[in-house]
Amino acid sequence: MIDFTRDYEQVLSSTDSGLFCRLLEAAEKVRLASVGDEVHLRGLIEFSNVCQLDCYYCGLRKSNHAIRRYRLGLSEVLELSRTARELGILSIALQSGEVNSNRQVDYICSVVRAIKEDSIRDGSPGLGITLSCGELSYEQYLRLFEAGAHRYLLRIESSRPDLFSRIHPPVQFYGRRLECLDMLKDIGYQVGTGIMVGLPGQTCEHLAQDLDFFKERNIDMLGLGPYIPHPQTPMYNTSNPIIVEPYINTLKMMALTRIALPDTNMVVSTALQTIRPDGLKLGVKAGGNVVMPVLTPEEHRSDYALYVNKRFKTLEVLKEEIEAAGYSMALGKWGDSRHYFRRLNLPYPECITG
Ligand code: SAH
Ligand code: SF4
Repeated sequence: MIDFTRDYEQVLSSTDSGLFCRLLEAAEKVRLASVGDEVHLRGLIEFSNVCQLDCYYCGLRKSNHAIRRYRLGLSEVLELSRTARELGILSIALQSGEVNSNRQVDYICSVVRAIKEDSIRDGSPGLGITLSCGELSYEQYLRLFEAGAHRYLLRIESSRPDLFSRIHPPVQFYGRRLECLDMLKDIGYQVGTGIMVGLPGQTCEHLAQDLDFFKERNIDMLGLGPYIPHPQTPMYNTSNPIIVEPYINTLKMMALTRIALPDTNMVVSTALQTIRPDGLKLGVKAGGNVVMPVLTPEEHRSDYALYVNKRFKTLEVLKEEIEAAGYSMALGKWGDSRHYFRRLNLPYPECITG
């Protein structure tokens, strides 16, 4: 009898469809008992595609000269945050390429402060803010936290140092990413990480180790998505074969993560929804309880191409798909990670309504 809390490699490598169904059922049960049927929202504002790094898999890498680089002005981001609020999306995620200058961090701090000040009214805590801007220094993360951001996403991409070093240039260090995750936790952020599934050369053994990594690090938020090859990147022509099937294995990884860490927040990634039309439906069944509707202005969307053919869905479409899967969209709530509050022995703020 396969144990979903231990036999990771066996589950991931199995082609038995009965086993896959049982796994999703088990994950759904855990999910309903621990985080309920709600799917929380993070309005995604991709405020800049300028990046100083050169990750081998990503369309925003600095050596890709085929995209127009942009950075939104403070007032534009503020306007988008108002749109989020009007739609009932009370948490936003500010994402960008990595630029670790103090000038850039000053700018992000001023954006975060402006959104907080603008959205805090009548004693309400305003919009919840997640950041995803890459590796920064302790002092820079601290300044952003003090400005009002309280969640941070930094994927490890693969917890295997050997695979990490195959998909990044030699100047990007696995150890540095671990240090960043430690710093974020130390400062008091709700910490999110995650990986790509189906990377060239990645095996079920690697994925099983990623699950152990999430558990050992006691992660508050997870983002697991399929790797989608981008033609303007070096990894597009890699000689390493893709060994694990990205779609089914992302779903399996989500389900196993939900069982291992029952009360984390886990996103149904846009990449998962991009590669298959039923990505959202199966993603919520596999335990995903967060979606990220894109609020980035249309004129910049094609220039924020981490991968190709990204699928954009309106809030109405997301709502329909979530409800068709038997779940509910949590409008008008922050939807913080329950795991974070339990980790710190604090009561969960059920009703932060912004
Ligand atoms: N620059 C920041 C945030 C933007 S990138 C950072 O790197 O953390 C956000 C995520 O996009 C990355 O962590 C990576 O996992 C994902 N990504 C990049 N290229 C991708 C690709 N080709 N397919 C799927 N996901 C990709
Ligand atoms: Fe830059 Fe992030 Fe893409 Fe790496 S993954 S190239 S840091 S945007």
